[in-house]
Amino acid sequence: MANFLRLAVWKFASCDGCQLTLLDCEDELLALAEAVDLAYFPEASSKMAQGPYDLSLVEGSITTAHDAQRIRDVRAQSKHVVTIGACATSGGIQALRNFADVGDFVAAVYARPDYIDTLETSTPISAHVTVDFELQGCPVDKRQLLEVIGAFLTNRKPVIPEYSVCFECKRRGNICVMVKGEPCLGPVTHAGCGAICPAYRRACYGCFGPMEAPNLPALSEEWRQMGAAKGQIRDVLRTFYGWSDPFRRESNAHDN
Ligand code: SF4
Ligand code: SF4
Repeated sequence: MANFLRLAVWKFASCDGCQLTLLDCEDELLALAEAVDLAYFPEASSKMAQGPYDLSLVEGSITTAHDAQRIRDVRAQSKHVVTIGACATSGGIQALRNFADVGDFVAAVYARPDYIDTLETSTPISAHVTVDFELQGCPVDKRQLLEVIGAFLTNRKPVIPEYSVCFECKRRGNICVMVKGEPCLGPVTHAGCGAICPAYRRACYGCFGPMEAPNLPALSEEWRQMGAAKGQIRDVLRTFYGWSDPFRRESNAHDN
């Protein structure tokens, strides 16, 4: 087959949700299986074929020295590396440790902290190796994931929208939650979810990460005028994508 692609799926620090999105492609799995050799995907199969691989999908962030070495090994045996999800593209929720002392968390959570061997930070895959494409979301959107795999199958650039959740929200005919005073991250968040949260009258908390060229200072000034306190603005920004450059910069500006 001309476009047969050897696919590997890797997990680092994460919840497995993005890998499950791939398994959730029930209607498309047969077509996918005809075009793709699932060479390495421990979550789905006991088959663990050796590299090299044409495409490696990588879920999760780097939180241990061992994983920092492992991602270099993955890169060395992969023609293309695509990171999937908030953890792999920005460090994920576990990057909250980056704003504090990881030793404090370890001492508070584990009965035997001395068993824990971890890095001070949770960092995205791109901080360690070259990445060919980053797909955002917590978890990623199934249609966008299939688009990315299809693009690498056919040697073209993935077509993923660069606009914000607000576009999807308006298309859905939602009433903007900012009119009732809720700080919504929709104006700066990457589209892909179909504006699910505002459709249920709650603010977007940014689980699809920053859109291209987001204007965070303007949005947080808007929230401030709506009555949001500094600490509230900081906390809204530091959830799923708190360690991404734009969210981190703006949250730091509101960190007394
Ligand atoms: S509810 Fe949020 S996503 Fe929807 S239009 Fe308002 S700011 Fe944008
Ligand atoms: S938090 Fe925002 S990006 Fe995430 S599902 Fe809700 S509306 Fe979509």
